[in-house]
Amino acid sequence: MIDSTLPTQIDPLGARTERQQRLEALRSQFTGLDTEYPLADDTTARRIYLDSAASNLRLTVADDVVRRALRHYANTHSQLHFGARVMTHLYHRAHEIVGDFVDASDDYTVIFNGSGVTGGLNRTARVLAERRPERDLVITTMMEHHANDLPHRKHVGEVVHVPLEKDPDGEAGRVDMAALRAAIQEHADRLNYVAVTAASNVTGVINPVHKIASMAHEVGALCVVDAAQSAAHLPFSVQGGAEDEAIDVLCMSGHKIYAPGSPGAIVARKALFEGLEPQEVGGGIVNRVETDRYEIMEELPEREEAGTPNLPGALRLAATLYLLGRIGMDVIEEDERTLTQYALERFEAIDGLQIYGSHRLEVADRIGVITFNLDDLPHGLVTAALNDYFGIAVRNECFCAQPFVRELLGRTGGEGASSTEGECAPDSQPGMVRVSFGLYNTKEDVDAAADALADIAARPDEYRAQYRPLLNGSGDWTHRTFEYPPEEAFSMEDEIDDWLRSA
Ligand code: PLP
Repeated sequence: MIDSTLPTQIDPLGARTERQQRLEALRSQFTGLDTEYPLADDTTARRIYLDSAASNLRLTVADDVVRRALRHYANTHSQLHFGARVMTHLYHRAHEIVGDFVDASDDYTVIFNGSGVTGGLNRTARVLAERRPERDLVITTMMEHHANDLPHRKHVGEVVHVPLEKDPDGEAGRVDMAALRAAIQEHADRLNYVAVTAASNVTGVINPVHKIASMAHEVGALCVVDAAQSAAHLPFSVQGGAEDEAIDVLCMSGHKIYAPGSPGAIVARKALFEGLEPQEVGGGIVNRVETDRYEIMEELPEREEAGTPNLPGALRLAATLYLLGRIGMDVIEEDERTLTQYALERFEAIDGLQIYGSHRLEVADRIGVITFNLDDLPHGLVTAALNDYFGIAVRNECFCAQPFVRELLGRTGGEGASSTEGECAPDSQPGMVRVSFGLYNTKEDVDAAADALADIAARPDEYRAQYRPLLNGSGDWTHRTFEYPPEEAFSMEDEIDDWLRSA
């Protein structure tokens, strides 16, 4: 591997006001912002993308940079020709930039893995179960995505789910730290690690992960953080403010950091992965192979990245993170907080709209994720109507967090919520509607969503008359007459054939 002599920290570029201006300039630099769709009222509209918690749109600036880098494309396992050397160097830099983005010291390694946090947490669970087999219990919280729950059940053993705090309005907030401390003490001998999300994909609420790490470390346990929702939205240091607060493993999803098509990243203390048989074996990670034995190289992350890497994806992720770091995550966080506060105020003013989770930012801070239901209307119908009549893309159902959504719904009710006693997929219909923000979203987008929701809330029977349930257990609804066949939207074959004809 080529040693890099480039700087090892992403320092924001310029004064705060300059960086805010650059953020404004960046808002339009994403692929898919100007995509138009036909609507049910026979008009056409530019879509408003409010589904960034699922995947966010791709940053064109980073794409362009990667396209230029790919003029050198070659396999990183080739050694001596120019292209291979350039690519090997860039791939190495990509690891470093990801590490720098989360302030990882030399004690950490960055491993590119799969496409998101699911792969990262499965790998982490397998590794930590193998590393510390005597510790067969994991503590997690009630707000976790299934990706930060099921891998621990499968690979480690028992999983204890700690409840959440209630804010003064009785709404679910952050993890209940007293309950967490009690659970940690109760299971101290068996506790392998505490696995917690930095921010909820259901309520957007942000957890104090460094304090949690410190509590886990007191009893010799580790702290694993799911950064799927936080990485692109909040400044973050894996090291925290003090030695005992450092995060042991952090997992991120490239497709939630404006870099769809990129791998996920695991940022882990080297000592946890060192010396174990790698999760996958094959080319690129061995010193010597005989027909009856093989010797794996010692270096991380190489020994954990068998095979040819997703080089374009890794470069895209690194270029994107570098750009976010140069704008400054402080500026990005503040910008999103302002938009979220504005959206909460607009949504709260809509009659019959019930927001889930604490919505007092001063009590439980949150990223730009807001879930809700409208009285008298199923979540699937509201979501379809936002799309069909307003060109607004949002997500519905249970967001892969069934226990948490079930708990929130059980408490609040409303038709979107309660058609079968707070049950979620697969055979029943309840869920929620989720609006979530990316850097490209503006107050105008929030206004459009709030106005649309107010219209739907004011005329529930008229909207209901236009839709029928899909009856597939999803809770989704479809328009009775308006159709948008996806195969008519884009055909790869036609695009290729057009090129061939014109060639
Ligand atoms: N964790 C959280 C909080 C998420 O929101 C998601 C995806 O929505 C995941 C984990 C899983 O991420 P991925 O689908 O990238 O594997």
